[in-house]
Amino acid sequence: MVDRYVVIGNPIEHSQSPYIHSEFARLTGQCLTYERLLAPLDGFESTVRAFIALGGCGANVTLPFKLEGYRVATRLTERAQSAGAVNTLQFFDEEIVGDNTDGMGLVTDIERNLGLSLRGRRVLLLGAGGAARGAILPILSVRPAFLFVANRTPERAINLIEHFKPLGESYGVALSGGGWDAVPNGFDFVINATSASLHGEVPLLNEAVFEKSALAYDMMYGSQPTVFMRQLERNGIRVVDGLGMLVEQAAETFAFWRGVRPDTATILAALRIRLSVK
Ligand code: NAP
Repeated sequence: MVDRYVVIGNPIEHSQSPYIHSEFARLTGQCLTYERLLAPLDGFESTVRAFIALGGCGANVTLPFKLEGYRVATRLTERAQSAGAVNTLQFFDEEIVGDNTDGMGLVTDIERNLGLSLRGRRVLLLGAGGAARGAILPILSVRPAFLFVANRTPERAINLIEHFKPLGESYGVALSGGGWDAVPNGFDFVINATSASLHGEVPLLNEAVFEKSALAYDMMYGSQPTVFMRQLERNGIRVVDGLGMLVEQAAETFAFWRGVRPDTATILAALRIRLSVK
């Protein structure tokens, strides 16, 4: 029987994951199928269990089910535990293992694809939702000098900082957080993990937040640059979207499931073209 994988979400038609994983399978000579699976908003767990009963091997979990993915898992990887959310499930006889590869996808995109090192640099993370939380452990693990988490609702950023402070200390990274007006100046990397771009909005930051050579990274992606990217590009800041993160988190998931890490460069280039012609 061919190994079966799915991506579970609601909605799910937009997902590029079947294309990415089918290409990974082709490139690595793995025999598997990967399809979209729409779960009812109140039926995530029953959808997972039905897929397991059909012999499913694993699943990606996307919006709005990443927290439910965390709850349904019987065992969690350290990065899933730290993220408090799951984007990858693997099914064994009695076990459902949950992983979170989003943050590692972000760091790999910045460090490997863009060739920039976060080590010893000042990093500003915008947002305090699931994507921001999932990015913190992978960012700390490459040891920036300073990580500031800023959020529209300042308390959520402050709570995240309280939660991650011991981990920051163990990596020797200074951590702080607050609202937009508490953000200090002079960051080398500004990572937008808010969903503001979805609503055509931009976090309210003053220009001095960005070093001249700063990279502004929006986790969102699409056929056009996001409003965050457009605004900063006008101010001469280098900008990047989250398509590379999408492909790298998928490669990390593929490695978790199949034990082989696919090359991502050709798929990222092909995906960029696919998006631009849509
Ligand atoms: P989430 O849990 O719903 O969190 C949303 C965050 O955005 C919160 O911090 C929220 O602030 C903030 N926010 C929402 N609207 C805003 C606005 N108009 N102005 C300023 N802040 C605003 O969402 P998520 O799962 O973390 O996802 C965040 C983004 O990351 C999405 O755009 C998603 O597509 C992207 N993402 C990309 C990848 C990838 O592979 N490229 C992977 C995962 C996520 P409050 O706390 O004040 O509400």
